[in-house]
Amino acid sequence: MLRRLVLCVLITLVLVGWIVPARTAANPNFPNRPKLVLVLVIDQFRYDYLMRFRPYFGAGGFNRLLEGAVFTDCRYDYASTITGPGHATLLTGAYSNIHGIIENDWYDREQKQEIYCVADPATRIVADRDKATDAPGFSPRTLNASTLSDELRMATNFRSKAVSISLKERAAILMGGHTASAAYWYDTPSGRFVSSTYYMTALPAWVDDFNRQMPAKKYCGQKWQALPETPGAGGKVLSEYQSSSNESCPSPRFLSWVDNTPFMSELELGFASAAIHNEHLGRGPDTDILTMSLSLNDYVGHRFGPYSEEVADTTLRTDRYLAAFLNDLDKQVGLANVLITLSADHGVAPTPAFIQEHKLGVGTAQTKAVRSAAEKALTDAFGPGPWIVSQDELYLYLDRDTIKRQNASESKAEGIAAEAASSQPDVAAAFTRTQFLTGTLPNSPLARKAANSFHPKRSGDVFVIFAPFAVPSSNPTRATHGTPWNYDEQVPLIFWGSAFKPGFYANACQPIDLAATLAAVLGLTQPSGTQGIPLTMAIK
Ligand SMILES: [Zn+2]
Repeated sequence: MLRRLVLCVLITLVLVGWIVPARTAANPNFPNRPKLVLVLVIDQFRYDYLMRFRPYFGAGGFNRLLEGAVFTDCRYDYASTITGPGHATLLTGAYSNIHGIIENDWYDREQKQEIYCVADPATRIVADRDKATDAPGFSPRTLNASTLSDELRMATNFRSKAVSISLKERAAILMGGHTASAAYWYDTPSGRFVSSTYYMTALPAWVDDFNRQMPAKKYCGQKWQALPETPGAGGKVLSEYQSSSNESCPSPRFLSWVDNTPFMSELELGFASAAIHNEHLGRGPDTDILTMSLSLNDYVGHRFGPYSEEVADTTLRTDRYLAAFLNDLDKQVGLANVLITLSADHGVAPTPAFIQEHKLGVGTAQTKAVRSAAEKALTDAFGPGPWIVSQDELYLYLDRDTIKRQNASESKAEGIAAEAASSQPDVAAAFTRTQFLTGTLPNSPLARKAANSFHPKRSGDVFVIFAPFAVPSSNPTRATHGTPWNYDEQVPLIFWGSAFKPGFYANACQPIDLAATLAAVLGLTQPSGTQGIPLTMAIK
């Protein structure tokens, strides 16, 4: 009797909770097949911004998205909370240990120099409709996984269009993946949106036309004045451009000023609207995808920190610009036909000055002291160096020539350097390459996060994690990110549209679940490296 009851309950559960969504998900032509998927990423956008500034949001922007399925505790489970890795992670559903984007730049042992995550000397920048420039271009060649856009394109025999847009090339390229129809980013010195020969030999006419109108010109003579509603700063002038006599606008100096104002988000969203119109996104027989990252928030966040008037006003303006963009999207495609997700590549720590003022921690991390301590310990143990060939936000790279010359063992040298780093007062933990490769890391959350960031072919020899509120920023008034602490890790995750059950979900989830969830809803193969899981509680 009991067995039959259990069986009955199981069958009911399977029918109600599993088979039904699975059938919907397995068929990309289910009745609510979206015409367009919009993946909206805001660079350096903490989850708490949505809550802190919610009373000041208008209609149609963030408030509209907050009517979707909102995950309130979405945190990266890796240590490299940086732009390149973050965008790759969101769209591949995997961490750096799989997709290989370990940082924005890393030390390449073969070339004996730092390389940029999307640099590709085999490509050229495309800046107009005639021909490519001579400037070295960019591509996703270092990305070791497929993205959601790649899977959508392959599933429709490349009929689906996948367009990716950002002010930063690494964000646009890594979100789009290997098979994107196009990726566009903004070139500040020229004030134009550009691309790379990886995608095209010349810009489409509409992009060239958009550029010829000099989109930043609209802001000539304007100042960045806080909105009346901005808490603590209503109406205050936050930044003003001082032009010199006889200067025509927009001059290169003006363009670099505008680059640090929220006007850039309006400009970028304007470009995205033009892309939807001219590329006919959401109007073909198959689902299209637009991946877009608003970069300006990161520029302002670094300069002023998360508790500044500038970030408050930027968030409110992002809300207003987003409302206008979504209204336009509604007119062009119809929002009923669109699935939207909102997330961020990382959060940010308060500025070192703020941290010290409020006694949260030491403020500035002593990165140079870590390097000298390791250098000294290795010299004491094995003889003269140089022992450290490169240091970046996460790693110390040991000089393998010195290791050979001094007849030292690599793992011993790593161990000594890690111990010296750990002995510094503001270092929380240091792990060695040997520990990652031999599976001998301690069983701790920090070690797990570091392992999710570690890539055997690209990472350094000693992974250094600074204590909470010891920020690797050389300037006390500049904020930064790139650690495994929650202020850097917690980001929004919202799914909006007819496929999702609205509500606030306090379930633990990770940004790697974004690609997994969308792939499930669209009936796609999961991107090649996806470690995330579909958030079924929010899927209709
Ligand atoms: Zn940043």
